[in-house]
Amino acid sequence: MTTLFERIIGGEIPANFVYRDERVVAFRDIHPRAPVHLLIVPIRPIPTADDVTEADEALLGHMFVVAAQLARREGISADGYRLIVNCNQHGGQEVFHLHLHLLGGKPLGPMVSV
Ligand code: AMP
Repeated sequence: MTTLFERIIGGEIPANFVYRDERVVAFRDIHPRAPVHLLIVPIRPIPTADDVTEADEALLGHMFVVAAQLARREGISADGYRLIVNCNQHGGQEVFHLHLHLLGGKPLGPMVSV
């Protein structure tokens, strides 16, 4: 089954892209929870963080390198930011194509609401 993010990557659904290389893309979240809210998405889909294997190590590391580059480009590096990967139901995952949320541009509050 094709994921929403595969359709975005393929150009079938529009998105506000800020980055693309041979392994990952990044675009702005459609419902931003902070002044900067980017999604860093591998082109090769992995459903959830729970499906990650050793074969994905380089790709996941690359996602973090891209996240740091984009944080610098967005001007949020010095103040700081948050990287989030939601997994399955309790993690609040909505799109089953692993992705890294990059959030910043204001103090983000507690890590988890209680
Ligand atoms: P998650 O809950 O971690 O699976 O996050 C999925 C994210 O995708 C949510 O923050 C949504 O706002 C975002 N999203 C859903 N549809 C789109 C879209 N068409 N373009 C950009 N972001 C989207």
